[in-house]
Amino acid sequence: MSLTDSPLYQDSIAQLEESASIMGLDPNIMERLRFPKRALQVAVPIRLDDGTVKTFQGYRVQHNMTLGPGKGGIRFHPGVDLSETAALAMLMTFKCALVGLPLGGAKGGVCVDPRTLSRQELQALTRRYTTEINTFIGPAIDVPAPDIGTDGQTMAWLLDTYSQLKGHTVPGVVTGKPITIGGSLGRAEATGKGVAFCINFAAQKLGMKIDNNTSVAIHGFGKVGIPAAEDLRDQGARIVAISDVSGAIYNKDGIDVAKAIKWTRAGRYLNEMEGVEHISNEDLFALDVDILIPAAIDGVITKDNAHVVKAKLIAEGANGPLTKEAIDIVSKNGAFLIPDILCNAGGVIVSYFEWVQGLQNFFWNLDEINSKLHGILKDAFDNVYNTSVEFKVDMKKAAFIAAFRRLERAMRYRGLFPG
Ligand code: NAD
Repeated sequence: MSLTDSPLYQDSIAQLEESASIMGLDPNIMERLRFPKRALQVAVPIRLDDGTVKTFQGYRVQHNMTLGPGKGGIRFHPGVDLSETAALAMLMTFKCALVGLPLGGAKGGVCVDPRTLSRQELQALTRRYTTEINTFIGPAIDVPAPDIGTDGQTMAWLLDTYSQLKGHTVPGVVTGKPITIGGSLGRAEATGKGVAFCINFAAQKLGMKIDNNTSVAIHGFGKVGIPAAEDLRDQGARIVAISDVSGAIYNKDGIDVAKAIKWTRAGRYLNEMEGVEHISNEDLFALDVDILIPAAIDGVITKDNAHVVKAKLIAEGANGPLTKEAIDIVSKNGAFLIPDILCNAGGVIVSYFEWVQGLQNFFWNLDEINSKLHGILKDAFDNVYNTSVEFKVDMKKAAFIAAFRRLERAMRYRGLFPG
């Protein structure tokens, strides 16, 4: 597969071109944003517990660094490939620009199902992958973070490996690390909390109350889906369905979120849970709920199933969960969509806070972090909403237009090297 072949890359380019044309973006700017700045593919051989050697494919892509060092997660998932990683790096460029961070867009990953590896094998994989990409990353170059299939422990191994290679501890090489080794309060919940903040901003615009009459379905019960579920439940909403890769569970009166979290964190799949109603991931999309949060993976709502979605409010917790055609269909059907580069930006915003706190060696309290997060997301939401009114477009197109505006200004100031 070439760099630009994946469905997510093609779909993202089509969406960007549409927004660029609506706002009258300089075609020379779009031309420069069409391809990543650089992309690295590495072989990651490790010795498995049974003594055999297995080689995995790893990637790190930096899309655009006009605004600052690259920023983006590392994904361990069987669907990872070069082109999907490049598309996700591109979305990071627009996300960082939209929420006003001094950071560029990057992404990495390894094509692996982490649930098939032991802890020792996962550590070996992370350390070898880090070694292979170590000249490509760094606090002033490109700063990874967790994504699907990776977590604080993965970031700790990455930090340690990078630091061993440098000969001194370099906490600023990653974000999303455990608090005891320089992580930020609030980072683990930041993406899901940001999703819940954005849902509240949207609800205000739509005249919708978040209370016991509000039903929510969440596709993907992981680092994004879980804190979003907890936050909305704490506001009184009923979380009626959640899912993981194995399937979904449903209860019209509301799922016991705490029990489901305990179950999931013990490494068990939801389809193994007893005493609950099981439905498929596809059924979850079709539920008659007020709010749908696709928070698993890209490309799950397409032109083939978008017409079954009944939710009035769709919050893209994942990156690219709805294809361009699906967004057109749900928007035509009257749904209000909070686009990924806004909706799930809480993660990169608190990653930015973590990076800043690490650089100044001074750490903030949780209230300060959450109130700064709320402020940045509120400004970004209002900017996207006002842009959607100005151009009479949906929130997805408006988010890209708003991000283009900042990137275009910055790229013009810096010019094109060598001129
Ligand atoms: P995670 O690994 O913690 O959770 C992913 C969830 O999705 C799990 O429940 C998993 O079982 C499920 N899943 C995986 N593949 C699936 C499939 N093919 N069909 C249905 N369910 C599937 O990952 P996460 O960090 O919560 O990331 C979820 C999404 O949010 C991704 O698109 C990621 O890029 C995006 N995101 C994450 C962060 C972050 O801070 N973690 C920030 C911004 C965006």
